[in-house]
Amino acid sequence: MDGNRDDDAFQPRWELLGDHPRPLGDITLDLNHLLHRAQPWKACGVLGPADLTELAETAPLEGQAELLLEARSVRQEGRLVARVRGICRATLRLTCVRCLVDFCAPIEADIDAAFAVGSDPAAKNKSWRFEEDVEYLPDGTLKLRHLVEQELLLTLPMNPICLSGCAGLCAGCGADLNRAPCTCREIEPQGPFAALKSLRS
Ligand SMILES: [Zn+2]
Ligand SMILES: [Zn+2]
Repeated sequence: MDGNRDDDAFQPRWELLGDHPRPLGDITLDLNHLLHRAQPWKACGVLGPADLTELAETAPLEGQAELLLEARSVRQEGRLVARVRGICRATLRLTCVRCLVDFCAPIEADIDAAFAVGSDPAAKNKSWRFEEDVEYLPDGTLKLRHLVEQELLLTLPMNPICLSGCAGLCAGCGADLNRAPCTCREIEPQGPFAALKSLRS
């Protein structure tokens, strides 16, 4: 069997970050170099809100995102690909779909991706289409901040909820039911129902 897809899971060693983690926002991974290296390439450091601008539109970063990453050259389907594995942990600001209140949530993204240099053969030959999930990079460069941003976006919950028991907003009066009980029923009915009530009494 070729390919190293079945080896052990990536073991994060957060202590490597140290007291003054390295900023990684400007780091670019050069696949042309990496694919011919015997040793894995490792990154360990942080990214800030300015590095993750696409994420800022949906889930702004609070503080810094911490990243541990390892990239190595592996032979897969007869050619060299860069397998990038790692973990990114961050605190993101999300909006609760029930009560519409912003809240902070810890997010951890597992990274396990494969990259190759050049253009995707699937674009030329349709029979290759379902073979694998390697991403092709025409110039062989990969910006670390783009990779992390995409992985965090994929990890975001579809329907963020601030607390598992969030009561949401009342559909009638719009009250945040987590903070105060709904006042709909206490309000004196108005309009046609008020007229009905006076007829009955
Ligand atoms: Zn909520
Ligand atoms: Zn109400």
